[in-house]
Amino acid sequence: MNSFIPLSIPNFEGNERKYVYDAVDKGWVSTGGSYVSKFEKNLASYLNVEDVAVCQSGTSAIHLSLIEAGVIPGDTVLVSPLTFIAAVNPVKYQHAFPVFIDCDDSFCLDPIKLRKFCEEECDWDGKVLHYQKSAVKAIIVVHIFGNMADMESIMDTAVRFNLKVIEDATEALGTFYTEGKYKGKFAGTIGNFGAFSFNGNKIITTGGGGAVTSLTSSSVAHMRFLSTQAKTDPVNYTHDEVGYNYRMTNLQAALGVAQLENLPEFIRRKQFNYDKYASLLANSNYCQLMPFRSGTCSNKWFYSLLINRSKIKTPISKIIEQLKTSGIETRAIWGLINEQKPYQNEKTYLLEKAPYYASRIINIPCSTQITFEEIEYVVSSIEKLLGDFADE
Ligand SMILES: *Cc1c(COP(=O)(O)O)cnc(C)c1O
Repeated sequence: MNSFIPLSIPNFEGNERKYVYDAVDKGWVSTGGSYVSKFEKNLASYLNVEDVAVCQSGTSAIHLSLIEAGVIPGDTVLVSPLTFIAAVNPVKYQHAFPVFIDCDDSFCLDPIKLRKFCEEECDWDGKVLHYQKSAVKAIIVVHIFGNMADMESIMDTAVRFNLKVIEDATEALGTFYTEGKYKGKFAGTIGNFGAFSFNGNKIITTGGGGAVTSLTSSSVAHMRFLSTQAKTDPVNYTHDEVGYNYRMTNLQAALGVAQLENLPEFIRRKQFNYDKYASLLANSNYCQLMPFRSGTCSNKWFYSLLINRSKIKTPISKIIEQLKTSGIETRAIWGLINEQKPYQNEKTYLLEKAPYYASRIINIPCSTQITFEEIEYVVSSIEKLLGDFADE
């Protein structure tokens, strides 16, 4: 057993070296090169969508989506505050305003509070939803830790009030519905736009990288165009729009093609290891392993432990610090975005579950390489530590 058990590390057991060396050997390391289009084609085929544009990061994928959704300065975008800040910063890049609406027990945007906000706090003029003087243009739905948000209800509200839905599926590549209206549909392919990330700790990685898709293939083409400095005429360098340097490189894509080949195996291991944790933690008095939404098949990217606060008052940071001395890396859920300096003046709506979970959840080691012995060690160490804290 390793003396240090990391939270989540990349897995390069497949063709990664082969394809990256090939890209280097051929001299195609930048945005030209065959792996870029191959990765796009393979992602589109995996997700069962017409087209995907690969880019530099999940953040740039969300930014491109907001631009393509028509979000302009002064607009309002609805989002839950229990997320990684990268889901929200692009709203600021567009000089628009987030309104922070609570999450539900899946950690994802609460569809009931979303509906209530639109109906009770906004005015609908038959075409545009207004919040005070601002046009509400879009909803960013983050599928937290690989858990699918309640897309049926969210899409109903979006259609009713003419809002564009941007799915932040950066943590949920491979999660899909097994029942209901969206049966067979993957996270990121239900709303108007879907953003993916291939950062180092995501379920597949390109070092850094992202991808974006849309229900409308001309939108994907336009986002790809924007990601390459909006070059209208590549020979004469004519530009009719402001573009971005957001395109993925061939080196990243070479890694991506290899990683995607192993995605089904990574998901299988994530699910298998989750079940091991679940059986070992089933009778714990101090914590509970959080489930994933029923009616979906989750990629089970991150595992969340809910600390029983009636027994344990110890702050999350102290629990994490103590586990580290036992060689176990864990992580707090994020600080709420509405509490971060750049966002403290933004509107919040009925926040209740978000602060509740923010003070109770830790993520536990979930790498695809983790062994059964290591999982047993993690569980026994956590149980022992929480037991000691409970006695204090
Ligand atoms: C990782 C992540 C992002 C951003 O992806 P990057 O590739 O790091 O830019 C956005 N939202 C969430 C919820 C994430 O976890």
